[in-house]
Amino acid sequence: MSEEAERWKEKYLQLVERQDQLEARWEQRVDLLRRSLVRSSLAVEGADPAVERCLHAMREVLRDGDLDDGLSQLVPRLEKAVLDSERHRQERAIRLTEALHRLVAQLLALSPPAELRKPIKRFAKQLAQRAAQLRELPGLLGELSVLQGQVLTLQEDAAPQQSGFLKRLFGNRDMPLPTPIASAECAELAGQLPEREDVVLSAEPLAQANEPAPQPVESEALALVAELAVAEPLTEREQEIEAPPEVAAYALPDSPEPAFSVVADRVEATLSNLLDNLHLPEQHQPQLQTLRARIQHGLNWYELVPVLDDLAMLMIAFSDQGQRDFESYLQTLNERLSAMQENLVAAHQGHNDGRDAAQALDAELREQVGGLQQSMRQATDLTSLKRVVEARLDGLLDTVDTYRQQRSEQEQKLGERLQQLVSRVGSLEQAARGLRGHLEEQRQKALQDPLTGLPNRAAWNERLDLEFARWQRYGGELLLAVLDVDHFKRVNDSYGHLAGDRVLKIIGSELRKRLRKTDFIARFGGEEFVVLLPNTPYEAGQQLMESLRDSIGSCPFHFKGERIVITLSAGLTAFGEGDTTERAFERADSALYCAKNAGRNRVELA
Ligand code: GH3
Ligand code: MG
Ligand code: MG
Repeated sequence: MSEEAERWKEKYLQLVERQDQLEARWEQRVDLLRRSLVRSSLAVEGADPAVERCLHAMREVLRDGDLDDGLSQLVPRLEKAVLDSERHRQERAIRLTEALHRLVAQLLALSPPAELRKPIKRFAKQLAQRAAQLRELPGLLGELSVLQGQVLTLQEDAAPQQSGFLKRLFGNRDMPLPTPIASAECAELAGQLPEREDVVLSAEPLAQANEPAPQPVESEALALVAELAVAEPLTEREQEIEAPPEVAAYALPDSPEPAFSVVADRVEATLSNLLDNLHLPEQHQPQLQTLRARIQHGLNWYELVPVLDDLAMLMIAFSDQGQRDFESYLQTLNERLSAMQENLVAAHQGHNDGRDAAQALDAELREQVGGLQQSMRQATDLTSLKRVVEARLDGLLDTVDTYRQQRSEQEQKLGERLQQLVSRVGSLEQAARGLRGHLEEQRQKALQDPLTGLPNRAAWNERLDLEFARWQRYGGELLLAVLDVDHFKRVNDSYGHLAGDRVLKIIGSELRKRLRKTDFIARFGGEEFVVLLPNTPYEAGQQLMESLRDSIGSCPFHFKGERIVITLSAGLTAFGEGDTTERAFERADSALYCAKNAGRNRVELA
C-alpha cells in the first residue's frame, strides 16, 4: 500500500475510534437523563400520596425495569394522580377564597372608618383572582393581617376595656368564637401552607409575639395570619445583622423541602442548562423552544413529568442526530477520498502518458536521425544532400514541437489536478479540526461535575491512570486521599437539599484553593472527594490533609444566623512497590472508614 493510502487508512481508523467514543458518550447521556429523572422524582416527594406512589414506581422502572413498557403503563396512572391532586388543590383554593371573603366581611361588620373601609374593599376585590394562586397566599394573609391590625387598634382605642380584636375573632378558651367557621377555615388554610407554617411558627419573633396560647388550631392560624407579613423581612434582617460580609458567603439558603417552588429553580435551571447544551438541528428547534418556554413559564408537579417525557424524546432525537451527523461526515469523507483516488489515478496515468510520449519522441528522433544518416550515405551531390538534410531537420523540429506541446498540456492538467487535491485535503483538514474541537468541548463538559465545577469521577479515572503511569516511570512519591463529609445526610435533612448543595459547592472550592497546581482534586460522587498529590512526601501529605480537614471545620457556615459546623473525615495512603491504582484506592477508602469509626473529623493513614 502506498504511503498516501496508509495515511488515509490511519485517518479513517482514527475516525472510527472517535465514533466509538461518541457512542459511549451518548450512552452516558442517556444514563444521565435516567438519573436526572430519578432525582427529579425524588424531589417531588411529599406532594401527594398517590402521586408519590406513582413516582416511586417510576423510580423502580427507571432503575431496573423495562423503560418502554413500564413507563407507558405508569404515565397514565401518574397523570390521573396528578390531575386528582390538582383538582383537590383547586377545591381547597375555592374554600380558602370563601373563607377569606368571610374574614373580610367580618372586618367590615366591625364598621371601620371610611379610610380603612376602602383598602379592605380593594382587598376583597382582588381576592378571587389572587387566592386561586397558592403563592399569593402569604402576601394576601400579610395584607389582611395589616388591615386587621389597623382595625384592631382603632377598636381598642375606641373601647379600651374590650379584649383584642384578634382574640375575639379567633377566640381563646374562655370566649365564644364569633365565627367558628372562620377559625376552622384558617386551620385548613394553615394546613395548605405546611412549609410556611414550619418556618414561620418556629421563628423567634413569633414565639414572643404570640400569646402563651394552648394548642388550639385557631391560635396557630392566628399566629400564621398575624405574623406572616413580618416573618420574612425579619429573617433577612436577622441574617444581615448576624452575618458580616465575609461570612455571608457561607450562608445556607433557607429551603423547606415539600413545596415544588422550593426545587423549582433548581429543576428549571438544570433543565434549562440541559437544553442549552443540546445542539439540535434545525428541524427540532421549534420543539426545543416550546420546551424552553414551558420551563421558563414555571413548572409545577404535574407539568414536570410531561416536560421530562418531551425532554427525553428530544435527547433521543439528539443522540440519533449525532449519529447521523457522524455517518454523513464519514460518507462525505468517503466520497472525497474516492475523488482523490480518481485524481491520483489520473495523475498516474498522466505520468505514464508522459513516459510513453517521451519514448515515442525518442523512437521518432532515432528514426529521423537514422533516416538522415541513410540519406547522407545515399546522396550523390551537394544540392540533393542539402534538400534531404533540410527535410529531415524540419521533421525533427516538428517532432520536438509536438512533443513539447503535448508535454505542456499534460503538465497543465496535472497542475490542475494537483491543485484540486490540495484544496480537498485543506477542506478535509478543516472539517476534521472542527470535529476535533467539538469533541474536545464535549469531552471537557463530560469531565466536569456541574455542581462544584470540579473534575468528576471520569476525569479522576483518567488522571489517576496518568499519574500512576508517571509514578511507575519516574518514581518519587504519589499520595492518594479519599475525603467524605461527616453526617452530610443530616445537613440535607435539617436544612434542605439546596443548603446541602451549597455546602458541597463551598467545600469543593475551599479544598481546591488549598492545593497546588500539580495536585488533583475531583468530586468522586455524592459528598465524597478524592485527591492525588504527586511528588509529595508522606508527612507533608499528612499535614496537608490535616489542614484541609481543619479549614472545612472552621468554615463559618450558618443557616438563618445559626452557626453550623461541618467536618470531614479522610483516609490517606502512599503508592508503594508493586501497587495498583485499585489497591491504593481501597487502602485510602479503608482508612477513611477507620476515621469514621474513630469518631469522624479526622484523618487516618494507611
Ligand atoms: P457519614 O458521616 O457516615 O459519611 O454520614 P453521611 O450522612 O455523610 O453519609 P450517608 O452516605 O449516609 O449520606 C450521604 C448523603 O449525601 C445522602 C445523600 O442524599 C446526600 N447527597 C449525595 N449527593 C448529594 C448532592 O449532590 N446534593 C445534596 N444536597 N445531597 C447529596
Ligand atoms: Mg459518603
Ligand atoms: Mg458522609
